[in-house]
Amino acid sequence: MKQLQYFLPDEAATVAIGSGLADVVKKATIQQALVVYLNGDLGAGKTTLTRGFVRGMGHIGNVKSPTYTLVEPYELAKWRIFHFDLYRLADAEELEYMGIRDYFNHDCCCFIEWPEKGVGLLAKADLIIDMAYQDEQRIITLQAESLYGEQIITALAQ
Ligand code: ADP
Ligand code: MG
Repeated sequence: MKQLQYFLPDEAATVAIGSGLADVVKKATIQQALVVYLNGDLGAGKTTLTRGFVRGMGHIGNVKSPTYTLVEPYELAKWRIFHFDLYRLADAEELEYMGIRDYFNHDCCCFIEWPEKGVGLLAKADLIIDMAYQDEQRIITLQAESLYGEQIITALAQ
């Protein structure tokens, strides 16, 4: 299965998609890197979904938007999560200075808002998530870009 689409009536539904992703990742038999690109206008819900994921993975506490810091790391027992927001990235080379290559290890989940700003320096996505406004609510499309992405989408749909 390569694509899933859901209507998200409210914020809780967006959080639930993130925690659903976390449930699938936690159950995977082999620990492997996960790279998720998040597309959508400002306010579409990219950070909200990531919050659902980070909490679902076991983080207790705040999940703040990395708008000014570019990346917010979360160190959990088995996993490291890196939440990127590249909206304010002036130059893709900044990512090199941040040591971006170290963020794509087997124990890392990377959720990247505005990935187009990091073209050429980011790892390939397993999942591309598009979030779009539908009046006050949202539509989400999850597209698999790798075998792992397909496995995740298949598991999510069950
Ligand atoms: P982004 O990171 O894409 O800029 P945020 O997640 O920071 O967006 O903000 C999304 C806003 O939209 C929040 O105010 C949140 O409460 C709201 N929101 C999230 N999901 C939904 C939804 N499915 N329906 C309506 N409002 C939502
Ligand atoms: Mg955001």
